[in-house]
Amino acid sequence: MVDQRPVGGHSRSTVGTMTDVYSVIRVLFSRHGTPSAGPATAYSFNDPSGMCPECDGLGRTVRPDWDRILDPDRSLADGAVRFPPFAAGTWQGQSYTNSADLDPAKPVGRFTAAEREFLMRGRPGSMVTVNGSGGTWTTEYEGLADRFERLYLKRDLSAMSQKTRDLVREFLVEGTCPVCDGARLNAAALATRIGGRNIADCARMQVTDLIAVLKEIDDPVAGPVAGRPSPRWSASRRSASATSVSTGRRPRSAAGRDSG
Ligand SMILES: [Zn+2]
Repeated sequence: MVDQRPVGGHSRSTVGTMTDVYSVIRVLFSRHGTPSAGPATAYSFNDPSGMCPECDGLGRTVRPDWDRILDPDRSLADGAVRFPPFAAGTWQGQSYTNSADLDPAKPVGRFTAAEREFLMRGRPGSMVTVNGSGGTWTTEYEGLADRFERLYLKRDLSAMSQKTRDLVREFLVEGTCPVCDGARLNAAALATRIGGRNIADCARMQVTDLIAVLKEIDDPVAGPVAGRPSPRWSASRRSASATSVSTGRRPRSAAGRDSG
């Protein structure tokens, strides 16, 4: 991922857009941050030891769009489930209308928290009887959210038919990861602080502001970024002068940096 903007006069650039600077910050956090999360890789969203486990370090997640899947004004028997494969009449839909724990005539928007939880997640050992072309059978109740996640989120969408993929996408919503809030790192990495800032705070800073922070850190690795001469950093600066290389694996719009 290469950003074609020239870096020269990069006082307006944020640190996170420059791979070399970000690498230095990772080392500084591993050496000087408290509490430490471990070596520098523990501060990389491209490394399993550092990435947010919810979004795999992308900063964004794809989730079921429950506002679209469920019509709060309708009851289960009256078509509250708008996702066709689980709609009333299908055997999956019957597992919701036939469950002894749910009132099929009550608008789902008026469900209590406990009823909503059961609808979405079920309860171990809960059974339900449904009718299909093969007759009548009793099966373990599976929550609506559990079923959707199992069939459509925890499987490879590319292995499904185009028709199924197009249908499922209509019922998904993409947004900032709720666990890392777009910072892309796991909790241990984000808990580490230097001077009150975590690494996500530093990555959002403009380079000129960060230099002032790094000058306070007594470590040779900070020298080049903080303006102290280093042959290695000079080489990096030359290579960075043509293009700035994004640290992300995804386009900036998907990196969550716009979330502030
Ligand atoms: Zn995340």
